Amino acid sequence: MAKKSYAALGMAAIAAAAGVGATALAKKSRQEKQVTEAHIDPDYRNTERGKNEKNSKGIYYTNGNYEAFARPEKPEGVDEKHAYLVGSGLASLAAACFLVRDGQMPGDHIHILEAMDIAGGACDGIFDPTRGYVMRGGREMENHFECLWDLFRSIPSLELPGASVLDEYYWLNKHDPNYSLCRATVERGKDAHTDGKFNLSQKGCMEIMKLFFTKDEDLYDKKIEDVFDEEVLDSTFWLYWRTMFAFENWHSALEMKLYFQRFIHHIGGLPDFSALKFTKYNQYESLILPMKKYLEDAGVDFQFNTEVTNVLFDIHDGKKVATTIECKVKGVEEGITLTENDLVFVTNGSCTEGTIYGDQNHAPNGDAEVRTSGCWNLWKNIAKQDPSFGHPEKFCSDIAKTNWESATVTTLDDKIIPYITNICKRDPKSGKVVTGGIVSCKDSSWLLSWTINRQGQFKDQDKDKVCVWVYGLFTDVPGDYIKKPMKDCTGKEITEEWLYHLGVPVDEIEELAEHSAVCVPTMMPYITAFFMPRAKGDRPDVIPDGCVNFAFLGQFAETPRDTIFTTEYSVRTAMEAVYGLLGVDRGVPEVWGSVYDVRELLDASVKLMDGRSPLEIELPGPIGLLKKPLLKAIRGTVIEKLLRDHQVIKDYMVDAEEA
Ligand SMILES: Cc1cc2nc3c(=O)[nH]c(=O)nc-3n(C[C@H](O)[C@H](O)[C@H](O)COP(=O)(O)OP(=O)(O)OC[C@H]3O[C@@H](n4cnc5c(N)ncnc54)[C@H](O)[C@@H]3O)c2cc1C
Repeated sequence: MAKKSYAALGMAAIAAAAGVGATALAKKSRQEKQVTEAHIDPDYRNTERGKNEKNSKGIYYTNGNYEAFARPEKPEGVDEKHAYLVGSGLASLAAACFLVRDGQMPGDHIHILEAMDIAGGACDGIFDPTRGYVMRGGREMENHFECLWDLFRSIPSLELPGASVLDEYYWLNKHDPNYSLCRATVERGKDAHTDGKFNLSQKGCMEIMKLFFTKDEDLYDKKIEDVFDEEVLDSTFWLYWRTMFAFENWHSALEMKLYFQRFIHHIGGLPDFSALKFTKYNQYESLILPMKKYLEDAGVDFQFNTEVTNVLFDIHDGKKVATTIECKVKGVEEGITLTENDLVFVTNGSCTEGTIYGDQNHAPNGDAEVRTSGCWNLWKNIAKQDPSFGHPEKFCSDIAKTNWESATVTTLDDKIIPYITNICKRDPKSGKVVTGGIVSCKDSSWLLSWTINRQGQFKDQDKDKVCVWVYGLFTDVPGDYIKKPMKDCTGKEITEEWLYHLGVPVDEIEELAEHSAVCVPTMMPYITAFFMPRAKGDRPDVIPDGCVNFAFLGQFAETPRDTIFTTEYSVRTAMEAVYGLLGVDRGVPEVWGSVYDVRELLDASVKLMDGRSPLEIELPGPIGLLKKPLLKAIRGTVIEKLLRDHQVIKDYMVDAEEA
């Protein structure tokens, strides 16, 4: 079958699946009755027994409120166990919280080994007196981060007495919902008038739908540019998508598909970011600090400046036991001997590994400060011991394809503010939503995007200052005002390029960048390492087969259906690891199942086509002829109601059919 008609069928299938499919099936089943009856298994019985049996990793997935509110019993033998968590990013801290809350492990049995002198990993946000405010990133989040909200409902807020972090977040986003009033600019600060549209051609929609229906296996080691051509890559859809999620054309087609499926319920909220929610402050202060306090109160042991260099295994007859942790404590080599009662959780890989810090007058290169944790070496040393421990080199070997750079610009006076207000149509100092997500400068050579989240982004931030997060997807091409690649620019030069795209008059740019702002650039060589094309086995399972006291956590561990570059992924892997290794008897909330919800699929297909129904697209010959009989077959049924409720069938179609 030709590619085009295959995809067209897919699109039509969404609209018609329940209707025509059911009718056709009924006929078919009558014809095949005799054959089928001959194959009925006499031992077959209908039952739900065993539905929640644990899988080979010691976990089961669930959904709904019954399990969400359930408290697991204390696992057997937990008081005799200890846990060693390598890293203190979101994944490790989440694992420690689950060990305390659900595993009911004594806090002083939990040891967090962190190479840096601070917790939080990629979730940063700090005032550096020598540089200024620094946020390497800001986290776009959503309501269906199932494991993450399961966790934060139990972590007390540091802001609101008696409230949880989830309460704080929920109330904030209720009172001040996020949405953007200008998603993209062009020609130096003019609204690009993307106006909530995706502007995909029919062929572009077909390419996306074809990807949607492609099996994972068929996307192993494939790039996005292998599955999309200019019909998608030149569309407004792709502008939104790649700037919002930081996908590059050479990244994994599999990951693109997983993202599309994972967030199918948010297709309508992509153009104006009404899909998104944000924390009050940067995520170090809003997420990491409350977790750290919760863990410290529970007596958890934090050991900073401790770089783990290897975990040694005893591997026999398929059973894998971690026996030793090798580490360097403040540069001195040490070893921790383990028994099967010592559980080890390793965050393998980090998107912020090797971050290079520039400042207002220095580019992040040359002798600039580089912060390393040794995460790739650790994973490589572990991976050498067994094929089930993954292939780190797949992700960390080509920084030209995995880097980009962000910068934190802090305004020092009010001179830049009018240019900001002109674009985002809101007062940046109101304390409420400002840009409502990133603003992308559509014609920027660096593909600059910038965002101003609620101010102050830092609890102690001077109320007169505004912290702006800027990032460029292309760091190795000259800018439009500063004729240098972003990676070679000082903070001041990055501000100049940003001001240029804000529409600041050229003769004022340098003065404003020098005196009205301070900027700290951060180059992240591995920021999209997890987006590199991959195949089965490149990422190790959270609990690799045979492991009895060892699990991987974070963005480079494999868990089904969820998508990386999210806070949720780190927390999900943490929950699975703890429940599986410790035997916590409670379901892990499954990845939100919108991809299996026909309502969401119908909505998404209409929204992707900017309001057109799948029944309004031109389908090749015989398939197109199916539309009329389809409408007739479902007239007056619940299927017709469903399709009408979701704008797939429009009044004029029914009128035309009735006439
Ligand atoms: C710029 C940016 C933008 C982002 N945007 C979003 C977003 O919009 N939405 C969203 O949900 N998520 C976003 N994220 C992703 C999210 O922040 C991360 O995925 C998450 O914080 C990763 O947490 P982690 O614990 O898995 O890994 P990390 O935070 O990387 O933690 C790993 C930790 O382990 C330590 N470590 C590593 N190796 C060793 C070793 N050998 N010995 C001891 N310690 C070691 C490291 O120092 C680090 O502290 C963004 C991240 C960044 C950087």
